[in-house]
Amino acid sequence: MRAYDIIAKKRDGGELTAEEIRFFIHGFAKEKPVVNQAADALSSGDEESLDNGERRCVTDYQAAAWAMAVFLRGMTAEETAALTEAMVTSGETVDLSPIPGIKVDKHSTGGVGDTTTLILAPLVAAMGIPVAKMSGRGLGHTGGTLDKLESIPGLSIDLSREKFLAQVKELHVAVAGQTANLVPADQKLYALRDVTATVESIPLIASSVMSKKLAAGADAILLDVKVGQGAFMKNLDDAKELARAMVAIGNRLGRRTAALLTAMEQPLGNAVGNALEVAEAIAILANRDECGFGPISADLRTVTLELAARLAWMAGKADSVDAGLHLAETTLTSGAALERFRRFVAAQGGDSRVADAPETLLPQASIRQPVRAGREGLVTALDAMAIGRAAALLGAGRQQKGDPIDPAVGVVIHKRIGDTVKAGDVLAEVFANDSRWQAAAQAVSDAYAIGPGGEEESGALAPLPLILGEVH
Ligand code: URA
Ligand code: CA
Repeated sequence: MRAYDIIAKKRDGGELTAEEIRFFIHGFAKEKPVVNQAADALSSGDEESLDNGERRCVTDYQAAAWAMAVFLRGMTAEETAALTEAMVTSGETVDLSPIPGIKVDKHSTGGVGDTTTLILAPLVAAMGIPVAKMSGRGLGHTGGTLDKLESIPGLSIDLSREKFLAQVKELHVAVAGQTANLVPADQKLYALRDVTATVESIPLIASSVMSKKLAAGADAILLDVKVGQGAFMKNLDDAKELARAMVAIGNRLGRRTAALLTAMEQPLGNAVGNALEVAEAIAILANRDECGFGPISADLRTVTLELAARLAWMAGKADSVDAGLHLAETTLTSGAALERFRRFVAAQGGDSRVADAPETLLPQASIRQPVRAGREGLVTALDAMAIGRAAALLGAGRQQKGDPIDPAVGVVIHKRIGDTVKAGDVLAEVFANDSRWQAAAQAVSDAYAIGPGGEEESGALAPLPLILGEVH
């Protein structure tokens, strides 16, 4: 088998076999691509000239050409599943079988102010469902779940495998950093795709996401596919196609998998920034309407409960999604989810008093600047991407892997789409630690569109639907 022939076959629209895909992906994932030798072999058309150990190596430029061929030609469901399996087996996998019960995982395709995991994990755990969460740091407008959690004083996400499993057994929830050995093929391939204009391919995205979920070992996987201007998938048709591709992979590879399509036109939560998002999550877990700096987002609460409902149903704790929703609501309002959050924070070395005094125990920004409405009217748009970029500008997110983040900074939304405002009302607030607040405040102001309001028009904007569909 030769990498060259596999690339050519896909280039010409052929369907690759599972063996071809595995050969290619495993060859690419190998530690040391011997570029010069491989190039010599390529030009002579003879890979046999490489010595045995390195013969099967697939170079970056071959993988890049292959990714473009996949981008242009697509993949069948069989090929996509084979690709996912090859990526999973390129590295270590987590074995959760020592933990009794149906272990669940949730993945969001990414949006702005998406604080669901921080609420969902303790909530679902309090429902008796084990959540063994491996998170990455990634890049983005804010940090990932790990960065958000690390804004809690003392909390560590560096758990040994033994401690991780023991904690999930006992508390039904643990969140740890993803080890470098999980799906190395995806790490390499994603970096290549990023610089070769091959990210936006359904089979490549679906296999990338699902390989990490499958390697992390859960029995049931729920995908929250964000749709809208602030999401990866801008329209419902593309989002549905991605959701169907991911669900098909999961089910083919033996995991119960479902997807919920949820709106991402405006930020989901009101807080966009690491410690700010933790504070909003705690307020929702504590059944409060506000969190020290402003109101909580009812949308964030709703989406989290809808996700919890489906996890309850998938894990067999509820006979239907409706019964799951009821269970999720009663678990949240009873205070059991907040209590589980406290125990989870303490188990990972954090100060659990943060659940009762987030405003004093979480890192604080030194500058708090309101952004006010210039006119009276109705909020007709609130650009999630622009708010995300403003938070990133303040230092809430990373431009490059390894960049430090400032946990205290970010943006808090006070007025959402459909709200009426008077001139001078606070639309949002910028939390900053330096003069970057000025540019961020301007960006936040520009993110809002305020249309004519008043008596007659105030009912003109129907509430935006939050749940846009599901696939299972
Ligand atoms: N997120 C991923 O993990 N992989 C992709 O390919 C795209 C988004
Ligand atoms: Ca709005």
